[in-house]
Amino acid sequence: MCIFCRIASGELPASVVYEDERTIVFLDIQPINPGHVLVVPKTHAESLADLSPEDAGQMMRVGQMMDQALRQSQLHCEGVNLFLADGKAAGQEVGHVHLHVFPRFEGDDFSLNLESFDRSTPGREQLNETAKKLKQAVDSL
Ligand SMILES: [Zn+2]
Repeated sequence: MCIFCRIASGELPASVVYEDERTIVFLDIQPINPGHVLVVPKTHAESLADLSPEDAGQMMRVGQMMDQALRQSQLHCEGVNLFLADGKAAGQEVGHVHLHVFPRFEGDDFSLNLESFDRSTPGREQLNETAKKLKQAVDSL
């Protein structure tokens, strides 16, 4: 069993915040900011595509709920990031899909580095070319 499955089954300890039939929410042990939680589907699935639509939907609904809870809590929270790393190349560290939800505030020094990344402006023709490739994949799902 993977580490998140072992937490979900109660075999390993975690600071659990919420639990329902499909999901469990607990604190990240290396938080970006205090209140950083992981929303984890109880059924093991490595990637987002492996999740049932019901589990994926519930993960997002619970993420929305945690966003609201963080904003209403006594924790320092002026905004919230939701982040899902799907695959090693995307920064996934545990092979069991999970949604990060963490509070943000002015001056917290965390950055997703979107600003430092050199983003191109491809133009409509290239955008349409990329859209065509993606649309083909969508149509074949
Ligand atoms: Zn697992």
